[in-house]
Amino acid sequence: MEDKVILSCKNVKKYFPIKKGIFSRTYAYVKAVDGVDLEIEKGETLGLVGESGCGKTTLGLLLPRLEEPTGGEILMEGHPILRYDQKRLRDIRREMQIIFQDPYSSLNPRKKVGTIIGEPFLIHKLGNKKEMLERIHELLKLVGIRQEHINRYAHEFSGGQRQRIGIARALILNPKLIICDEPVSALDVSIQAQILNLLQDLQEQFHLTFLFISHDLSVVEHISDRIAVMYLGRIVEMAKKEYIYNSPRHPYTEALLSATPVADPSFARKKIILEGDVPSPINPPRGCHFNTRCPKVMDICRQEVPEFTEIARGHLVRCFLWR
Ligand code: ADP
Ligand code: MG
Repeated sequence: MEDKVILSCKNVKKYFPIKKGIFSRTYAYVKAVDGVDLEIEKGETLGLVGESGCGKTTLGLLLPRLEEPTGGEILMEGHPILRYDQKRLRDIRREMQIIFQDPYSSLNPRKKVGTIIGEPFLIHKLGNKKEMLERIHELLKLVGIRQEHINRYAHEFSGGQRQRIGIARALILNPKLIICDEPVSALDVSIQAQILNLLQDLQEQFHLTFLFISHDLSVVEHISDRIAVMYLGRIVEMAKKEYIYNSPRHPYTEALLSATPVADPSFARKKIILEGDVPSPINPPRGCHFNTRCPKVMDICRQEVPEFTEIARGHLVRCFLWR
């Protein structure tokens, strides 16, 4: 089992301090990620879903330590990266790249395409200029950008083309794990499928592993092997995609799925309306974070935090109903 896993996190947390007053005193924390356990297997696509604000982007930034975790343990191919100094971290970080949600703000509009894609190559001193140019041309071809556009500026491209450039930039270091943070959410629907297909082709060709973040269950269904469902900073259910879509067990997963439109109305699920708003991550409910909105809440849910229960092979649920 162990060597199948490329990345694992245990009890990973990120609390952002909120300060006020002339002494910038910290008076509270945003508990953006509040004890995440997960494992990503080599070559798979793990979909990470949950409503906006539940901590998906923060988690994606914690994995390569682009944000410093407040606590927990992260192992990348067995390396305890939170204990590494910057120098050792650099080599391992090469193996993990992020494709960001918004290709308009993540690519500098005043830089040329070649510069944007080549930058990581230069930072990591991977070769001379000629080798870099060869590599950039190879990547442009792979992602479907015309070679003669290498000297154009990012602002001259459409959203879909910019995301292709972002993908080329992520690939230049030959990473093993790519964190795709809502890579198609900012794009026109007509372009989304093209980018998803490109990502899948590249995954096959280069044996990539994806953590694929999306608030949209229909996008992750298409691309994922397994799905992790996140609510207020915690993973509440994780399993093979078929289990999540056909037999969700956590009441939050059930509610989330019931709100997702399906192509064939005869498969439509009974809609579960959740009471109330998502609570603030500044002061999340005690016990299970979902207890304030859960249709099946019990006393214990307000007191204690449920651990994962494995209810079927690889199907993990954090809920007292399944303990
Ligand atoms: P998602 O990607 O699921 O929409 P985020 O990870 O962006 O969620 O945000 C989770 C929570 O953390 C939100 O309440 C957000 O406002 C807060 N947050 C994110 N980044 C910061 C930051 N740098 N400082 C303070 N709060 C933050
Ligand atoms: Mg996000």
